[in-house]
Amino acid sequence: MDFSRPDNARRINRLKVLSELRKGTCSKAELSRRLDINKVSIGEICDKMIKEGLIEETGREQTAQGRPGTLLSINSKAGRVFSIEEGRKAFSVAVSDLHGRILRYERLPKGESFQDDIQKLIRKMSAGDAVIYGAAIASDYNTRIELPFPSVCISRAEAEAEAEVARLGDLESFLFISWSDTIAATIRKNGMMIPLPDLPHIRAQRDGDCSCGGKGCLEAVSSGQVILSRTGADSYRTLFGNREYHEMIKVMLRPMAAALSEAAQALSASSVIITGRMAAMPDAMYAYLQTLVSSLLPPGRENMIIYRSSAGENGAREGAALKALDTFFYNTELLLRLKAIENLSVPFQNGI
Ligand SMILES: [Zn+2]
Repeated sequence: MDFSRPDNARRINRLKVLSELRKGTCSKAELSRRLDINKVSIGEICDKMIKEGLIEETGREQTAQGRPGTLLSINSKAGRVFSIEEGRKAFSVAVSDLHGRILRYERLPKGESFQDDIQKLIRKMSAGDAVIYGAAIASDYNTRIELPFPSVCISRAEAEAEAEVARLGDLESFLFISWSDTIAATIRKNGMMIPLPDLPHIRAQRDGDCSCGGKGCLEAVSSGQVILSRTGADSYRTLFGNREYHEMIKVMLRPMAAALSEAAQALSASSVIITGRMAAMPDAMYAYLQTLVSSLLPPGRENMIIYRSSAGENGAREGAALKALDTFFYNTELLLRLKAIENLSVPFQNGI
């Protein structure tokens, strides 16, 4: 993209305003200051977006001196994105507003007519005249899903981790363990999610055949699917709801503790967040896992905390909705790339 062309520059300034307002309400004067764009241009951009219904005026700011400015905010109702979550046995379709708040979702068993069911739910949830900007599919199955608008795919682990960051803040150096039927991991470094495909295949036990061909991998001994089949519980709800299973689960927490302590040290993780279906395990299981991990960590690191997901079962849906918004509405990647270019060009401007 040629950033010097006026229409591209305008488009980028619009995106900058939207991404600033995504963080919270702001006046035109403040936008001009934060974005380093002159007041006249900010005024033009904002007036146009107010006319288009993308942003709206929401009260006046509190100032100690001078004339208080009108606060602007994103009109969350001006558009929608979809998020589709595909699991092993079920799937869900959700529709969200421009803040990523889920307005409606439905979860159904994944049967023969899975693709048709998705289309039906989308038609049902598309009712009304709000613009649909796109969708994100959180899945680990590489299923091709045809949609009537642009879409992007994301792993469940990444979607769940993004949902935690949106709820809790930056979470730099946090290790995210997506623990459902399968295990996946990501770590957040410098504001980016880095997938860790090797973590599920850390050798955590002597025996147990893994799909990767290895033996005793974490995935082969502690995945949700393995825990369900070894205990004989028919669902995660049954697994956690019946005390008779708890001792058996504890045995399968040991390989997880070994893998977590090893990974946390190798990656200098500050804390761990468990996401996915296993995140719903009872407090006593967390306490047990925490004790095991602390006992395996070297002195000085034994205080690393293992947190339960704050988004819970909604994590993949929420994270996918954010991914759809980032990609198709706020265009965060373009802004990040632009920022990187701007940072690079600073020394040249200084004549170095
Ligand atoms: Zn393996």
